[in-house]
Amino acid sequence: MKSSVFLRKADMVKITEEQKKKYVENGGRTCPFCGSTEIDSDSLDADGSVAIAKVECLDCHKVWEDIFTLTGIGEAEEAEEDEEE
Ligand SMILES: [Zn+2]
Repeated sequence: MKSSVFLRKADMVKITEEQKKKYVENGGRTCPFCGSTEIDSDSLDADGSVAIAKVECLDCHKVWEDIFTLTGIGEAEEAEEDEEE
């Protein structure tokens, strides 16, 4: 049997477990591939308790996803209504 060439994902870059760990330890501030701080992330796309943001390195142009999970909630003031004293 021939192996299918269609299974190949286009330009999906592998990130090693080591790179992932380091990236998270750094707070996601540097590119996991080249270490550049020139990275640009899209707005968060939240779904329930998980949110994902696509990030691109402006130096090596690789892309990856930041994955966030909900860890708590905080109190917030309602916008612009309680201003009288
Ligand atoms: Zn990079």
